[in-house]
Amino acid sequence: MTRLLIARGHSLGGPCVKERTFIAVKPDGVQRRLIGQIIHRFERRGFKLVGMKLLQVSKDLLSEHYCQLTKKPFYPDLVDYMTSGPVVAMVWEGPDIVKTSRMMVGHTNPAEAHAGTIRADFSFHISRNVVHASDSTEGAQREIQLWFDGKDLLNWDCIDQSVTSEL
Ligand code: UDP
Ligand code: MG
Repeated sequence: MTRLLIARGHSLGGPCVKERTFIAVKPDGVQRRLIGQIIHRFERRGFKLVGMKLLQVSKDLLSEHYCQLTKKPFYPDLVDYMTSGPVVAMVWEGPDIVKTSRMMVGHTNPAEAHAGTIRADFSFHISRNVVHASDSTEGAQREIQLWFDGKDLLNWDCIDQSVTSEL
């Protein structure tokens, strides 16, 4: 099973699946002191933080993370950018979070991102788009395993869980 299925429930919109995704504040976001504002977006939406660390990314980790992009012309610049300073790596949990977080993050190119998305609100160029979010449930599972040891992800009960969903 490729989808990380933690629990099932039913919301007014139909069945919902609680899942996890990998979110990272990229080096430009850290340098510009946007960590708090980006975390706030996910907290105020009601998602639950289950893992977080600040780290200097190695080129090896990055080449695994972006394994589908290594032949792209922008890849060398992407490596320089992503290794230029610390990254905040996080795992967030919630119903349908992979899809929702991609919507919250916005289009890869901030110039095409909708107002109100993180990339539109905080950036204007594709080469410095502040934040990463996994693009599929399979990708999320792969990236979470790549960036985190399972023991560093916490299963904990959020006190508002029964208020924000039926899960
Ligand atoms: N990127 C870039 N130039 C491009 C396309 C992508 O610098 O023309 C960078 C950008 O930082 C982007 C990352 O490569 O976020 C990964 O690209 P992807 O297509 O996976 O976009 P994402 O999933 O981040 O929206
Ligand atoms: Mg991507």
